[in-house]
Amino acid sequence: MLAGFLEEFPIAKLEIDLVSKWEILENGGFGDSWGVTKSFNTQEISIFLNSDALSSSSIMFISTILAHEMIHAEMYRKVASVPNGPQGADLDTFQYNFPGLYEYYRKYKDWSHEAMARHYRYQIKNFIRAIDIATNGSDANNSIYDDLSWTALDGTSAWKNTLTAEQKSDILNTLTNEEFKGKCN
Ligand SMILES: [Zn+2]
Repeated sequence: MLAGFLEEFPIAKLEIDLVSKWEILENGGFGDSWGVTKSFNTQEISIFLNSDALSSSSIMFISTILAHEMIHAEMYRKVASVPNGPQGADLDTFQYNFPGLYEYYRKYKDWSHEAMARHYRYQIKNFIRAIDIATNGSDANNSIYDDLSWTALDGTSAWKNTLTAEQKSDILNTLTNEEFKGKCN
C-alpha cells in the first residue's frame, strides 16, 4: 500500500509520525483520535499516530489505524492531484480521473469513510494479516482482521445497512479487546 503511494504518483510527499504529545497538534483539536491524516497543501500529506491513545493496543489494532490512515492519505492524494484541489477541486476532472471516488465525494459529507467502508476494507484486512504473519508467524485470526477493518467506520451507511445488530455488537467487542489488549497482559 505504502510502496504504491510512493511510486505510482509522486505528486505528494507522505510523512508518518508517531506523536507522544498529541495535544500540541492543532491545539489539541484532534481530540482522543487514534490517528489523523492531514494534507497541509497539495504536496505534503502527513499521518500522525497518537502514541498515548495506542499505548495499550495490540499490534493488530495499531496496524489497523495505520492502514486506515494510509487509505485516507491515498484518497487525499487523489483529490490533491486534481487541478485546484483539494479545496476548489476541478470537479469535472475529478469525476473523469476518479469516477468511483467522485461519487462518494459528491454524495457524502464524510465521503472518505463512506468509500473506505464499501471498497477498502479488504486492503485494511490484508495489511493486518501481513502484520500478524510478520509478528506471530500465523494468519489464523481472520475474523479478527475482518472485525478490525471496521474500526472508525461505524458511522457509515455500510455499517448501518449491511450488518445485523449482533454483528455490530460482536465487532465492537473485538475492537475494544484489541484496543486495550496491553492492559490485560
Ligand atoms: Zn478515518
